[in-house]
Amino acid sequence: MNNVNVPKEVNTYCPKCKHHTVHTVSLYKAGKRRALAVGERAHAREKEGYGGQKYALQHTFAKTTKKQTLRLKCKTCSYMYHKDGIRLRKLALV
Ligand SMILES: [Zn+2]
Repeated sequence: MNNVNVPKEVNTYCPKCKHHTVHTVSLYKAGKRRALAVGERAHAREKEGYGGQKYALQHTFAKTTKKQTLRLKCKTCSYMYHKDGIRLRKLALV
């Protein structure tokens, strides 16, 4: 699948309401990394100095697409959940 059109609103099952309701669809994006977070600082410390790289950096990739995760928000209870990502070249919300 290359180009997929996804409707902005879908009628689907809400796990909280326990029946079908209208959901707004948006695209999930990972949040911005906080440079001062504990894990981020620990990782930076580990990478310091000679032999600091803990794993081989991947330069060539077999896959040409990334998994796109859909974020569904129930319009009645505003419960938000994610739908499993599928590999797409282009996803358009229509
Ligand atoms: Zn709901």
